[in-house]
Amino acid sequence: TDKRVIMDETAIRRALTRIAHEIVEKNKGIDNCLLVGIRTRGIYLARRIAERIRDIEQRPVQVGELDITSYRDDRKTKSSARDAAVLNVEEKRVILCDDVLYTGRTIRAAMDAIMDCGRPLSIQLAVLVDRGHRELPIRPDYVGKNVPTSRQEQIEVSLTEIDDTDQVTIIH
Ligand code: 5GP
Ligand code: MG
Repeated sequence: TDKRVIMDETAIRRALTRIAHEIVEKNKGIDNCLLVGIRTRGIYLARRIAERIRDIEQRPVQVGELDITSYRDDRKTKSSARDAAVLNVEEKRVILCDDVLYTGRTIRAAMDAIMDCGRPLSIQLAVLVDRGHRELPIRPDYVGKNVPTSRQEQIEVSLTEIDDTDQVTIIH
């Protein structure tokens, strides 16, 4: 196997700063915005983007968490939205945050869970890496880096909150 670095600490920092600016620009501020991080690494990305938005706008932005592991369409026992998250999404601009976008099935399940919590004003999607191979009509609004991959390749995302470095590598 061969492992290659595609984003280092600086590249990740710049991408998240850019995404923070794009979110503020697209939403003309952050009124009613709620960043929702998806399970492990999406949560840390959502928190980092929220920190930068606070620096830009001089006010805090709400952050929530979603665990959709038992909510995916390919699992036998679908859990209720209550198990995934209890989020007040009513009239909110929900911005889902995840580390890697692949087939889109996780995001579809996340949208399911969000809509089961209430009626958001809109749902947007921010990902650090889009590796392609979508199986559903889903596209991200904010992308750290587009990385064309083969299905055999794997993206490895390391974040200092739980890993030893900030780094994205491609393994094949
Ligand atoms: P999807 O549901 O779009 O097929 O896959 C996206 C979800 O699976 C994300 O939550 C992401 O963390 C994980 N995932 C899919 N492919 C990869 C990959 O190559 N690397 C990493 N780190 N996660 C992946
Ligand atoms: Mg994930």
